[in-house]
Amino acid sequence: VSKFAGRARVTIYDPRTVGVDRSSENLTDLLTHAVERQLISVVYQPIFELDTGRLLGHETLMRLREVDGRAISPDVFIPAAEQSGAIVDLGMWVIDQACADMARAGLGTVIAANISAVQLKAPNFSLRVAEILNRHGLAPHQLALEVTERIDLIPEPQVSRNLDHLQNLGVQMWLDDFGTGYAGIGWLRRFEFDIVKIDRSFLNECQTAQGVRMLHGMVSLLRSLGRTVLVEGVETEEQKQLLRRLGVDLVQGYLMGRPEPISEVLRGRRNLVA
Ligand code: C2E
Ligand code: MG
Ligand code: MG
Ligand code: MG
Repeated sequence: VSKFAGRARVTIYDPRTVGVDRSSENLTDLLTHAVERQLISVVYQPIFELDTGRLLGHETLMRLREVDGRAISPDVFIPAAEQSGAIVDLGMWVIDQACADMARAGLGTVIAANISAVQLKAPNFSLRVAEILNRHGLAPHQLALEVTERIDLIPEPQVSRNLDHLQNLGVQMWLDDFGTGYAGIGWLRRFEFDIVKIDRSFLNECQTAQGVRMLHGMVSLLRSLGRTVLVEGVETEEQKQLLRRLGVDLVQGYLMGRPEPISEVLRGRRNLVA
């Protein structure tokens, strides 16, 4: 049997593949009931100042499990939730949960939550965010909303109204996955992002001199525009040293800390210096 035939058979009979096919039908249903069935949760990954090692805050990442306990990747369920519209309620639940956890933890640091364009199009989005901050007694600047550059954020009036209202409240706006999507330099001109997160693919390419020059150029551009620069996906000490030389402000990655549940964040809070 050739290698190719072997692979083809695996593809056909692999139960995980069958599961994926089936879940594309059931995923919408799963997502719609995920909150009430307690299949959704949040984990937190720390973000540090590179110079001082001080903890700036945590990024909030959504997790989804099937009823049998198997994890579904965000790269699978987030797009599905965006398509079905379920992301509006799930995204609100995540912000609420993160604010509740962090208010209770009393760290006084920043919570960064990822949001989709779909959420920014909902007319009451900024009002609901303001209500959540109020209810948990958090200052608006303690919340950051990460907008990914992967989406084509059409400047609809509703999107602009939400963004303006959030920025007037004092909520931070961060640009996620910089360098990978539609936005590029145009967005930097239009929106006053507080922090720009450079996608980890650029760090991965730093094994070559060309890759280092590319990252250096991006960092210099962002800093000359007055933006605070965060590089995500830091996995090695060498990468951290390189980022120090390039003048990067903030870092996030497995080297400093993996995403973990609030219980673990609280347990390790005395050691929160990178
Ligand atoms: P993102 O916002 O760019 O988040 C960073 C991703 O990189 C996370 O994957 C994180 O676990 C992973 N990561 C962090 N440090 C390292 C590292 O050192 N090495 C490597 N290899 N990976 C690292 P995750 O949790 O699977 O999330 C994937 C994407 O799903 C996120 O990318 C974000 O776009 C989306 N997402 C996650 N949670 C939410 C949410 O609540 N709402 C929305 N709208 N999107 C979300
Ligand atoms: Mg993010
Ligand atoms: Mg990111
Ligand atoms: Mg990314």
